[in-house]
Amino acid sequence: MQLEQLYAHFLNYPKISTDTRKIEEDSLFFALKGDHFNGNAFAEKALDLGARYVIIDEADYFIDERTILVSNVLQTLQELAKYHRSKLTIPIIGITGTNGKTTTKELLHAVLVEKYTCFATKGNLNNHIGVPLSLLSINKEFEIAIIEMGANHQGEIEFLSELAQPTHGLITNVGKAHLEGFGSFEGVKKTKGELYAFLAAHQGICFIQHDNSNLVEMIAAYPSLKQIKYGFSEDNEVFGKLIKANPFLAVEWFSKKELEPHTVQTKLTGSYNTENILAAVAVGLHFDVSDKQIRLGIEKYTPQNNRSQITQTAKNTLIEDYYNANASSMKAALENMAVIEAENKVIILGDMFELGDDSPAEHKTVIAQAKTIPTSRLIFVGKDFYAHRDGDAEYYQTTDEALEALSKHPISSSFVLLKASRGMAFEKLITAL
Ligand code: ATP
Ligand code: MG
Repeated sequence: MQLEQLYAHFLNYPKISTDTRKIEEDSLFFALKGDHFNGNAFAEKALDLGARYVIIDEADYFIDERTILVSNVLQTLQELAKYHRSKLTIPIIGITGTNGKTTTKELLHAVLVEKYTCFATKGNLNNHIGVPLSLLSINKEFEIAIIEMGANHQGEIEFLSELAQPTHGLITNVGKAHLEGFGSFEGVKKTKGELYAFLAAHQGICFIQHDNSNLVEMIAAYPSLKQIKYGFSEDNEVFGKLIKANPFLAVEWFSKKELEPHTVQTKLTGSYNTENILAAVAVGLHFDVSDKQIRLGIEKYTPQNNRSQITQTAKNTLIEDYYNANASSMKAALENMAVIEAENKVIILGDMFELGDDSPAEHKTVIAQAKTIPTSRLIFVGKDFYAHRDGDAEYYQTTDEALEALSKHPISSSFVLLKASRGMAFEKLITAL
């Protein structure tokens, strides 16, 4: 089937389903394959549940005239998304980076939505399937869109940029994560830098945290790329600083055009979010959102999904930050604990996964950094931290062992940081806190 024909179906039935447990009425069902499933086998069920057409790539599963047979379902989904994007004339802001993509995306959305009908990637749908699905959700009512792009191997951001065709881009930062997939930190920089390369080749505009030396080094390869600089130093177009973290951030920002500072009281914690907030200010100002709208948008935003969320339990105040962890986000989380104004700080850290050969050294560095912060208890969980155990802190091999210890010797009236890779299942610890 020709792409144009499929696109005509999409225009009539502009909803996409990929999972028979969540079929939408009158949607196009794309029979994707995973490691443990073959979507083709679910095509008939999808029709029974109300899908309008099913797109499959194995002829044996052909059902009736509602079946569209293609050579590769995933590729067709990606091509359809790219074709749809090419029909849209709106600005699209592509966001990538090692840490803070989702938070920055949501802050940008919070600001832009004060003035525009703004689309943003839902949740964390940022990969080779999520990006096409996001693009296909942009209907013609939207005036601007923000697309989160994730990567764990080289070439991925180039590929996702070709699909999303961003007019604007923002790399939050680069750090040591997924090193097993990227090969090295150089590999991380090269991959994220593919967004700059795309923008440079298409007369795009990028927003850059210009006090981040890695980003400055990366962008130097594209002298013609138009940059809008934000950061902490006064030579940036938008600059600002953290003025309070108790534990929610208050941030002050200036734009070069004015002398007066603006202050925003946020519902975010984590001093690292200061730069994410400044990014949202820079983007808002570029798209003519007023100072007042920018402030209101940021003030309304509450983070979700265990990304630097603050929770109050009967006994303690918790920063739940165990959605993911890598060397640079650990560092940022500890820097935040150092500036937070609270008595009785407790730090509970779990292993960082996927660090490859750097893993032992990075775990050691985190232990050393954590020890510089005055705490009433310092707890490390997981076999990678356990390998460096000493007498100055508590070490447990597993989350279950840590839970047992916390149940025996409870923590109360404390400000507790919980940070670990997702696989450590730190949510188990909450019952004891
Ligand atoms: P993912 O790769 O899972 O999509 P992400 O890049 O979307 O992650 P977020 O979900 O926004 O990132 O944030 C995850 C964690 O990264 C935060 O809880 C925080 O610990 C850390 N983080 C957020 N912003 C920054 C930043 N600017 N610098 C360093 N670390 C940050
Ligand atoms: Mg994300």
